[in-house]
Amino acid sequence: MTTITSNGSKWYGEAPDSIDKLVEVLKENTLDPRFIEYGNFIIADVGSVRFFGNFHNLSHVFNIRTDDPAVIAKLTRAIRENLRRDDYRAALAAKNRFITADDIKHDLKDARYADGRNAWDSAEDMTRDVSAELRRRGIPHSPAQYDAGGNCLTCGECGRCPGVHTFEEIQKAARTASRDRITRLPAFRVTYGDGESYVTSMAAGVTLAEARAYFVGTRHTMSDEKTTKTVATVEEMTP
Ligand SMILES: [Zn+2]
Repeated sequence: MTTITSNGSKWYGEAPDSIDKLVEVLKENTLDPRFIEYGNFIIADVGSVRFFGNFHNLSHVFNIRTDDPAVIAKLTRAIRENLRRDDYRAALAAKNRFITADDIKHDLKDARYADGRNAWDSAEDMTRDVSAELRRRGIPHSPAQYDAGGNCLTCGECGRCPGVHTFEEIQKAARTASRDRITRLPAFRVTYGDGESYVTSMAAGVTLAEARAYFVGTRHTMSDEKTTKTVATVEEMTP
């Protein structure tokens, strides 16, 4: 038996479209990727399958339950073909662009508190769940990388990092970091023998060893034009 609760934008009481009409609409229109969160269009149930969704730029809601193998095969094939097309992949990529691993972590955390499971037992359990959910939504991601101080290279967080990040997040952080490297000049504190010091920047790429070779032992004339001081040490300023 096939129950068509809705198929197409119809007024109340108007007969919904046929299965073949939906197959036609699926050929010509892009499915709305937001329905990934509501079962991804094909929802297997006990003894039947529910087809549920809408389109990206056309309102044609379908909500069909059936145990008819011919209908199941026909709709499954038409939906899967739609999901494989470039137009659907582009819509999915646009939807996923701004989702961060941290957003997913918060969604999962809210769900855990809502149903009483509460906090994860460990950070590893949390990261595994975030990764599984990203995979389920088709969002490419990889494990977080940390600096020597334990801070994530992508989100900058230590204890609060979700443990994985989406490719979008990783690329965005890398772009910001390389822009900083270009504009941030290395800065050094130059200290004289009497302890007085000043800070100076040097050209991009100058190392501490090079700055020391350049400054240490040199004699500078002070602003009074009389006193001279000799540079004793050079230290790098941490940005
Ligand atoms: Zn992180």
